[in-house]
Amino acid sequence: MQRRDLNRLALVWALSAWARAGPAHASGRRPAGPAWQSNPFALGVASGQPRPDSVVLWTRLVFAEQDAAWQALPQTVLCEVFADDALRQPVRQWQVDTDGRRGHSVHVIAGGLQPGRSYWYRFVCGSAISPVGRTRTAPAMDARVQQLRIGQASCQHFEQGYYVAHREMAQRDLDFVLFLGDYIYESSNPKYRIRSHKGGVPKTLDEYRARHAQYKGDADLRACHAAHPWVMTWDDHEVVNDYANDLDRDYSDPAVFLRRRAAAYQAYFEHMPVRIGPDPLVPHQMRIHDRMAWGQLADVWTLDCRQYRDHQACPDPNRGGARVVVGCDALQDARRSMLGSAQEAWLMQGLADSTRRWKLIAQSTQMSSSGVPTPLGRSSFNDAWDGYPMARERLLSGMADMKLHNALVLGGDVHMNVAANLRVRPNDAQSPVVASEIVTTSISSRGMGESMLAAIRDNNPDIRHARSDERGYTLLEVRADGVSVAFRATPHPVQSDSVLRDQARFEVVAGRAGVQAV
Ligand code: FE
Ligand code: CA
Repeated sequence: MQRRDLNRLALVWALSAWARAGPAHASGRRPAGPAWQSNPFALGVASGQPRPDSVVLWTRLVFAEQDAAWQALPQTVLCEVFADDALRQPVRQWQVDTDGRRGHSVHVIAGGLQPGRSYWYRFVCGSAISPVGRTRTAPAMDARVQQLRIGQASCQHFEQGYYVAHREMAQRDLDFVLFLGDYIYESSNPKYRIRSHKGGVPKTLDEYRARHAQYKGDADLRACHAAHPWVMTWDDHEVVNDYANDLDRDYSDPAVFLRRRAAAYQAYFEHMPVRIGPDPLVPHQMRIHDRMAWGQLADVWTLDCRQYRDHQACPDPNRGGARVVVGCDALQDARRSMLGSAQEAWLMQGLADSTRRWKLIAQSTQMSSSGVPTPLGRSSFNDAWDGYPMARERLLSGMADMKLHNALVLGGDVHMNVAANLRVRPNDAQSPVVASEIVTTSISSRGMGESMLAAIRDNNPDIRHARSDERGYTLLEVRADGVSVAFRATPHPVQSDSVLRDQARFEVVAGRAGVQAV
């Protein structure tokens, strides 16, 4: 065993000690604790990363001024899981210690559950009881499930609109919410503001914690977390716009930027129902990419497109980050990677091994090409997959070689609904369609202008649908014979009483790569 593996084992032990637990004795014994003046569960509850026998249950204690004295102390939180929504049939309970080093967050890996069913859960600390959440385990690995219903979402700039998409998803019968990044935004645009961030651009752990806490102050967002388990990855704004690996667009000293990134990752972990926290043995990192199964129906990968990527090609020397580039030779460098070599190899191996009907590849941005011709050549947006065309070609030609018929790439980031066909050579009718792509529009963040988008549509026949003027989420119903897609949308900006409707519907038929309008 390598020293690194020993370290990993030590970490796993430490993490499980954190969630020290095992079921507390079913005597209903509750730990003594604070007599709260104000509700410490104001950020709500959440669940995520469903497996056939477990799910992650989350909450975080927050301390109003009257309760500030409790903040310096470790707190013990009881987590209770029930088989019914009336909370009459207790299943298991766990007792967890937490403290300020993890922002008083609580993550319980609730194991020993039955596959493919709903559970209800809540937390208790001293005199306070949290709201009740509902969650759902994944079906047994070999189960022949009829369907998987997903709410696909991304990009929820707090200032730019209300979260009616979350309000609607909370009411729906979903198996999980798939959130593909830009959960918080670090920055503001005073031109598009219908409510305001508190504080300036976060850089420290406390500032990122405060930003996450403000977002969770939204009742619709809390309702959507309480209603369904979430499966999540991140994009750039959880740290800072356009960052790539260890580089931000101000060309900050990477050592300085990595400390900021680590603070942002830790705050993310403290606020999300995710299994894996910051790794104290690998400073600044946090593994978020993951794979899960939904019976025999689907394998689902969630990819990390930010942490391991190569820097954007041909950046502006005065201001780094994303831009539209033309005649950029560096794009053709076959060594460049979006996922990093380890994650890319892990994905390709997983795709090759997968025996499930659908391969859902969830990642944070757009994979189809969206360049337009210019007098100097075709343009490429260097932050999305167009900026990593050789990595895209490797992925898609690998999938073509495996003869995958049912691969569906799911994305976010670009603030528009996109339905597209993916070929090894984009937009080349001679190159067979290898996979289908559905990109969801933003929950609230503003999209690009129509004239720009019209040029993209006109020059990219693989894009069968693209609209950037509306906000919402995407409803996916995965069955053995096909995937039904409904883009649920409402005009920008989203008002608190806006209503969603179907902007367009698509179908992906099993055995036939490509999107079909219905
Ligand atoms: Fe965004
Ligand atoms: Ca983004």
